[in-house]
Amino acid sequence: MVESYPKTILELERWFATDDACREYLYQLRWPTGFVCPKCHETSAWPASRGRFVCRSRHQTSVTAGTIFENTRKPLTLWFRAIWYVTSQKNGASASNLQQILGLRSYQTAWTWMHKLRRAMVRPGREKLTGIVEVDETYVGGEDPKDGTWVEQKAIVVIAAEEDGTGIGRIRMATVPRRTRKNLQGFVHEMIKIGSVVHTDGFHAYRGIDAFGYKHRKTVISRQKEKNSASILLPRVHRVASLMKRWLLGTHQGAVSASHLDYYLDEYTFRFNQRTSRSRGKLFYRLLQQAVEIAPTTYRSMVGGTGETPKH
Ligand SMILES: [Zn+2]
Repeated sequence: MVESYPKTILELERWFATDDACREYLYQLRWPTGFVCPKCHETSAWPASRGRFVCRSRHQTSVTAGTIFENTRKPLTLWFRAIWYVTSQKNGASASNLQQILGLRSYQTAWTWMHKLRRAMVRPGREKLTGIVEVDETYVGGEDPKDGTWVEQKAIVVIAAEEDGTGIGRIRMATVPRRTRKNLQGFVHEMIKIGSVVHTDGFHAYRGIDAFGYKHRKTVISRQKEKNSASILLPRVHRVASLMKRWLLGTHQGAVSASHLDYYLDEYTFRFNQRTSRSRGKLFYRLLQQAVEIAPTTYRSMVGGTGETPKH
């Protein structure tokens, strides 16, 4: 399918006036070369009632089955507007912004939608970072007076940022429970392609990373100087860290619980990596495309099975 997406809100309103129009668009995104049964990969099917398809082996499916839209009780037209709003705002939106703009009665619905969309922001099987990649850890939240007490515990976030001349290429982020060798090197393996240059400070947990096929560049400084010069040694990760913290404090007013922090990091990463996209419509397209690629998540599984409404 040729990448085609609305470029203005007027186009959005015109293209996606009905649920059928939304469904047709999702169909093109999900099955660009024609229908494929998710169960048996059969390519011929006939339409059944309520937008369903039945394959030759009699499996029933629909364009939203197995995606974040599965079993939604709200119209797709509303979902499309949510996605437009979330992608067209430079800094994204909080759940209460979304609730307000869409006129949703329940905060829980807005919160659940934001979290479903965050899960769609990470593409399954995405490519690893390459080239020269800075890696460092930062603390988010906790008791630090600079950040305020805005996540209940201090979280450790590992950041990887590609060097792109003097600028920043793509980034990856994840929380780790502790700054151990296993956690930090595990992060490197997950996020960075073997053969790349991994640029770190002198922290011992990164020692031996070259044994796995990475080239390890270490920039070591004396302990006294370390506090002040970290941002000069690994300027890209430190720039990303401060932008990400500013975003958490600004858009989300710091109201992020530590258990959900990884999903906010995913959203930030998606926005950051798409920041040079000329068109906001392209982000809308990307997010919808990824939304039909992933497995559905229920509200219950997101809040850890308690069914309680979280505050954030
Ligand atoms: Zn089938």
